[in-house]
Parts: sequence; C-alpha cells; structure tokens
Amino acid sequence: MVQFLGFLVLTFGAAFASHWSYDNQTVWPELCNSGTRQSPINIQTSSTKQTYLLPFIFTGYSERFFANVTNTGHTVKINLQNNGKVPTVERGGLPGTYALDSVHFHWNSEHTINGYRYPAELHAVHYNVQYGNLDNATIRENGLAVFSILFEISSDDDKYFSPIMKVIEKVDNTVGMTAQTNESFSPDIFFPRDTSGYYRYIGSLTTPDCNEGVIWTLFTNTLHISESQVSYFTSMWSETGLLTENYRTQQPINGRPVYEKISPLPKVITIVTSNASKVAYIKLLMLFSIIYLYLK
Ligand SMILES: [Zn+2]
Repeated sequence: MVQFLGFLVLTFGAAFASHWSYDNQTVWPELCNSGTRQSPINIQTSSTKQTYLLPFIFTGYSERFFANVTNTGHTVKINLQNNGKVPTVERGGLPGTYALDSVHFHWNSEHTINGYRYPAELHAVHYNVQYGNLDNATIRENGLAVFSILFEISSDDDKYFSPIMKVIEKVDNTVGMTAQTNESFSPDIFFPRDTSGYYRYIGSLTTPDCNEGVIWTLFTNTLHISESQVSYFTSMWSETGLLTENYRTQQPINGRPVYEKISPLPKVITIVTSNASKVAYIKLLMLFSIIYLYLK
C-alpha cells in the first residue's frame, strides 16, 4: 500500500512537473506557496541598499555557438551547442564560478521596477560549477545564479536576436518541439553592453518546484526589441492554448534586502536605442568635438 501511494505521489509529481499552468498558480507545489524567499518581486528603488561588489568576469560569452530552441509549453528555451566549452561567470559577489545552462523568456516581465512591468524579461540560468550540473545545483543554497534582463520596446528590431526569432517561429505551434538555429551567435547578445549596474537579492525559481536560495542579478540596463519581435513570443502555444503571457505573480519580499550596484558609466549610452538616434548622437558628438578643437 505504501509502495502504491509512493507510486501515485511519484507519478503525480512527475506529471505535475510538466503539466502546471500559469492560469492557476495557487495549486503550484508546496514550497511555491509556503516559501518565504520566493521570486519574482517588485524592486522599489528607493529601498535598495547600495553595494560595492567587484565587476563580473564573463568568460566565453563572445564565442559563437549554434543553439537548440525549444517550446517547453511554458516558455521558449535556448540551449547552446557548446561542445564542452561552457561560458562561465564569476565575481560580482557570486560565491564561486557559475556556468551558463540555458536562457529562456517571460512575457510580460516577472520582476517589476517601482511597480512597472516591462514587456518581456530574459533569464540566463547558471549553476555553480562545484555541483557539476543544473539538477544537483538546483537543490543547493547558492547553487543557481539567474541573470535577468528586462526588455523595452523600440521601433527597430534587435537584429542580434533575429537568428533566434527565425527558429522560434518553427517551434511556436508545437509543445516539446526543438529546432536548431541556422546561424551561430554569441551569448553576449543576451546581456546589456554595460553589466556593471544591477540589483541583487536572494530568491527562488519562478516555476515549480520554486526552489529557494537562487542568487538573482537584475541588470539596471535594459535591452530593446520591437513589438513584432515580442509577437514571436505571444504567438506561442502551450498545452491549453495560446501562451499570451507567462509570468508568475509578485511574491512578498519578507524583509529580504535588495542591493543595488550602481554603474559608473553614464546612462546616455543606454538611452540611445534606435539606429537613427545612434547616428544623430554620433553626429552631435562629432559637432561638439569640432567646436571644442576650433575653440582650443
Ligand atoms: Zn524564468
């Protein structure tokens, strides 16, 4: 009887692992509801504590890789075909070296900043190399480090994302479907150019089983994609219908500190988004340089 119950629990557990949905988040497993360090949260910038952590050291993110793109039914997930050359990150207050496992997206964003929800959010999931792989690291305190990048809407496509967008189109209609990118790309396209400004807190995975002890880094600089690129996400199918959004509801902070590392670089670099405004910005810089040289 005990064995039979065990079998039922295992079977149900395994079934739940893939059959949970965003429509009914109150029935997610135990820890998702009882945990006290859950994610995502709203970051109130007036309540963050300033911190002076060392800059991150990213290794291997500018190498080029092909990737597998999968419709998991809950998100679109990207796994690099890394042939053993896994990109790693260290410093930035991380207690070790973390290897990139995969990247996936949420639409709209899961984290909010001062109550503002962005149109999309990217999660780059990393595991502490001392635990060897994602599964072993997931059940350890500080085993996982997730980097979050928020997206803003721009009038132009982010052209670096186009090899991935083309493949998303192929897997959009079928849960469990995987396709390979036709072009290689470097994983640094997933990160803002300036990674020295970020928020840091300890939270959880935002999907079942909601394991806690995850080190979250949310970059203060955003990436920009167009409405039409966002529509590749919102036209994805889950098991129950169109996955028009896939974000978890806000979780209580419960007194957790949220740290902010302020970037020393001026914000102007990130405000300049579209190609047209980049050109205008460069022209303006040249004009100022000429005036400066003339007056000198
Ligand atoms: Zn996520």
